[in-house]
Amino acid sequence: MKTIFPIKFIMFSLACLGSVNHSFAQAKEKNNFEEWSKKPVIVTPVVGNSAPSDAIILFSSNDLNQWESLQKKGTPAPWKVSGDGFTVEPGTGDIITKQSFGDCQLHVEWNIPENEVQNNLNFGNSGIYFMGLYEVQIYSSWNDEHKIYYNGQAGSIYKQHAPLVNACLPAGTWQSYDIVFTAPRFKSDGTLASPAFFTVFQNGVLIQNHVTVKGATIHTDHTEYNAHAEMLPLLLQEHGSKVSYRNIWIRNL
Ligand code: MG
Repeated sequence: MKTIFPIKFIMFSLACLGSVNHSFAQAKEKNNFEEWSKKPVIVTPVVGNSAPSDAIILFSSNDLNQWESLQKKGTPAPWKVSGDGFTVEPGTGDIITKQSFGDCQLHVEWNIPENEVQNNLNFGNSGIYFMGLYEVQIYSSWNDEHKIYYNGQAGSIYKQHAPLVNACLPAGTWQSYDIVFTAPRFKSDGTLASPAFFTVFQNGVLIQNHVTVKGATIHTDHTEYNAHAEMLPLLLQEHGSKVSYRNIWIRNL
């Protein structure tokens, strides 16, 4: 019996040694995949209502200096600033950013006043058009209260993709979209190289998961791509409803 223990011990030790050697081999192999050449840039993240340190502030409060009228380019955005936000002025047309964007991450907060929903048949219709062409819809869709085709309700990629779920809050409440947009690419002959994509979170809930955009989001049923610049302004839609916006920032990707 006395000789058995050392033999067992030696066998166990050899097994452990083999295991250790195996771990070393794994670690060495793993080291070959370590990336040390490109250090991620340090960014101050979102804290409360702040924007990340590398974001471009499109509206924080006070003024619409980052925006201009679409109808009368070069003139100030004609919507009304009040409190910590601004509001669509019906009849004045869309507004666009002075800067152009391609691939980007956008944060925007919006609010449809209760009286707009009760007294305006546009039911809080507005929208965010990336590159002035591809719309993430804004509409009063809380509790399915104002029925519209599903790919036209809040959070839809207009007339193309209904949201995965309805994550809306009631009218009169501030809501948020966090949107990742990939711009389309075109070949030198003007044909499509790769389409646009959207990922959208509404009030923290994923509602569009890397969906493929079929072309400009237009009201008619057929759409297609027409070649355009790599970067174009962001557009907010005036659709006759007094929708308010605040805390808008964007990151170029
Ligand atoms: Mg709209």
